[in-house]
Amino acid sequence: MPPVRPYQGMEPGAPVLTILNPPDRCHQTMHVLLIEDDEILGDGLKAGIEQTGWVVDWVRDGDAAQRAFEREGFDLAVLDLGLPKRPGIDVLRWLRRCGNQVPVLILTATDGVGDRVTALDAGADDYVVKPFDLDEVCARLRALHRRRVGVSSAVMRYQNIEIDTSTRSVTVDECLVPVSPKELAILQALLESAGKPVPRHRLMSSICGWDDEIGSNVLEVHIHHLRRKIPSLTLKTVRGVGYRLD
Ligand code: CA
Repeated sequence: MPPVRPYQGMEPGAPVLTILNPPDRCHQTMHVLLIEDDEILGDGLKAGIEQTGWVVDWVRDGDAAQRAFEREGFDLAVLDLGLPKRPGIDVLRWLRRCGNQVPVLILTATDGVGDRVTALDAGADDYVVKPFDLDEVCARLRALHRRRVGVSSAVMRYQNIEIDTSTRSVTVDECLVPVSPKELAILQALLESAGKPVPRHRLMSSICGWDDEIGSNVLEVHIHHLRRKIPSLTLKTVRGVGYRLD
């Protein structure tokens, strides 16, 4: 275990930032859309995935899934094939027809070999068979996300900063830096696009679900904390756009 970097409190004279309506569950890394009509299964999946530190928005039928994708960008999707209103396979085909390349993990029944083949051919990235192990679902989602951002290892590095996405830890010069899940989510999004501006809405989407009440400057608060905890962070504000890691 690397040594813990001493963390200084807010220095005198530092800008005072306030959070309006502080969110209480806006504290995750990736934004996942869960599409599952079974209440018990969906409940377990949502809670389990959230425990790994990601935002989960849950819809229960195919039409709602399409509306969700039209409304918002997601990092990952977990899609049950047997859905009311519109079958999962139709949702998947529609997604790919629209050019949406979000990684999709399919949930299928044990006897659904044909369904799995059809779904993979239609653009699904992976599948798990019910009943499944939640740890396996989360590991597969992490692997899909790494594949999407072109990182084959669970560790992301940028200059002297390292994020281990499996242990959700951040080290700077090999010293552990304590960060909150939201700070980790923001830092990860910035590292994934290092050198390019990351729009403000993209960073907000990585930390917040729809049902969060968000203060107008919540992102700035987290950025402020990150800059304070990681003084070597070469983070530039791109006026009117967002932030860029140089
Ligand atoms: Ca179902």
